[in-house]
Amino acid sequence: MNLNHYPIIAIGASIASISFIRTLRDQADNRKILLIHGEDRLPYKRTKINKNMVRGFDKDEFKMADEKWYSDNHVDLIYDRALKLDAEEKTVSTKNGHVYYYDKLLLATGASAVIPKVTGVEPSEIHGVQNAYDVDRVLQTCSGKQRFLIIGGGVEGIETADQLMRKGKQVILASRMKLPLQKLFPEALLKTLVEKIQSKGVLLFNGVSVSNVHKTDDHYNVNLKGQELRFDAIIACTGAIPNTDLARKAGLKVEKGILVNEYLQTSDKDIMAAGDVAQHARGMVTGLWHAAEHQGKLAAMNLLDKPQEHTLPPFRLKTEVFGLFMFSAAYEELIPGVEEAIEEQHGDIHRIMYYNDNQLKSVVFLNDKDRAKTYQQALFEHWDKKKVIDELPLPPKISFTFMA
Ligand SMILES: Cc1cc2nc3c(=O)[nH]c(=O)nc-3n(C[C@H](O)[C@H](O)[C@H](O)COP(=O)(O)OP(=O)(O)OC[C@H]3O[C@@H](n4cnc5c(N)ncnc54)[C@H](O)[C@@H]3O)c2cc1C
Repeated sequence: MNLNHYPIIAIGASIASISFIRTLRDQADNRKILLIHGEDRLPYKRTKINKNMVRGFDKDEFKMADEKWYSDNHVDLIYDRALKLDAEEKTVSTKNGHVYYYDKLLLATGASAVIPKVTGVEPSEIHGVQNAYDVDRVLQTCSGKQRFLIIGGGVEGIETADQLMRKGKQVILASRMKLPLQKLFPEALLKTLVEKIQSKGVLLFNGVSVSNVHKTDDHYNVNLKGQELRFDAIIACTGAIPNTDLARKAGLKVEKGILVNEYLQTSDKDIMAAGDVAQHARGMVTGLWHAAEHQGKLAAMNLLDKPQEHTLPPFRLKTEVFGLFMFSAAYEELIPGVEEAIEEQHGDIHRIMYYNDNQLKSVVFLNDKDRAKTYQQALFEHWDKKKVIDELPLPPKISFTFMA
């Protein structure tokens, strides 16, 4: 037997792969798996890293499983990088000089941070926050620094700004959009976010593109809307790009991501792709934790010849920033084309429910955190207006617990 042969290899050890492995084992498939992990610590919950910048975190604090879980589940977890995929020979070559043979392969290489071109600064001086190593680097190199320029008004940019402010830093937040989080929330709710951001002292610049900065001996300057601003470090939260190199060079079909069909198969019958690296129908790359988890599971079921078709779940996002809980579901997919929008406010709760044919199609709200799961259920089940009034009243019903 060739010791470098594995019935199954997965490249990239994050939620798509872990969910793939869990499903195979749940289905009593015990074939040996090689998991090629390109990072420097046990596979971890990526969603935690930028939300815990204030306090920092231990190397394996957010691990999804301990080492024993991998050995117990017949998984050889190796810390290495896949450099070449040969789809004809069915081999994967790695940075440490190994060549592995597979029968079936899962590509779950995720995405990398986009580092924008900014004249006056080397790309290596611009920090991304895509992985735990990036966050460690931001914390180390920036510990003595006070003023930060964050480029990007999406979720990552807002969360990073919130963390740095809580750490007592000064933040300039520069966003191309008219308003931050504009793709996920309507203006009515974003007004509250903007007020909160500004009241904390963040210098928020909307509708600007940072194309050049001026570097001096010990700091940088940037001109935004005619204001000359000084800062010490720059962080880019300008999105992520799927890691498709291996697939592209191996001759698989690739556009924005690796093209997969509804069964998560690539253009090669023995290779599947799942998570942030995969491109689905209508050019969709999902970019969300729970979507990657779901795809890992489906990839496993399809590998076991128990095919399950992939349907994209509604996009759902929750975040807690600047003292607000924010929830958005299926907003971008629905707007425009919505027939009825019902906006309600009570105390600090502010919500808008969107209906077509009396069926709930999208929800956005601020601060109703305890009922987030119910809102999600209402959306998945497309509740009608009456059921929403009954089950999700505003103001919320107060429930008392009587002690015997
Ligand atoms: C800072 C941050 C915060 C986020 N917060 C949220 C959130 O709150 N909610 C949410 O739904 N989503 C969030 N996301 C998105 C979510 O984390 C991703 O959708 C999810 O992690 C995708 O999982 P994945 O398994 O496809 O790949 P990834 O998690 O991207 O992991 C891919 C892995 O493959 C490795 N890899 C790549 N190439 C190779 C190679 N050649 N050899 C070996 N290994 C390789 C990478 O190093 C990485 O470890 C966040 C993302 C980031 C970066």
